[in-house]
Amino acid sequence: MSNDKSRVMPSPGMGPDNEAFVSAARGGRFVLRWCDDCGKTHWYPRAVCPHCMSTKTQWRPASGRGTVYSYSTMQRVDPPYTLACVTLDEGPTMLTNLVGAAPGGWRIGMKVAVQFQASDDGTPVAVFAPA
Ligand SMILES: [Zn+2]
Repeated sequence: MSNDKSRVMPSPGMGPDNEAFVSAARGGRFVLRWCDDCGKTHWYPRAVCPHCMSTKTQWRPASGRGTVYSYSTMQRVDPPYTLACVTLDEGPTMLTNLVGAAPGGWRIGMKVAVQFQASDDGTPVAVFAPA
């Protein structure tokens, strides 16, 4: 164990579904998968649209902004960390980590913005901080 008090998250791994996401994240860009047929976006990235089953989906730049829908702070670990569902401005809700505020500082409805943190193998992971 190091003395570093920031939590290092496990790697999400890399596969065909998230390769483009990870590649964009390495460049500091947040992208989401959009559907050309129904116009909706989705998370987690999939080749087939979960809304209408179309295969005409593509990556597009996204705002990286969202709203805390729910959260839970893990207090019994050191350091504590906060898991949350964040509803992105583009529509989908993402299970993620909140960073950049004290464990008691989160509220449902808070505006947050994406950041990337390196996971245990260096793969960037999207987390959200107060906007
Ligand atoms: Zn669709």
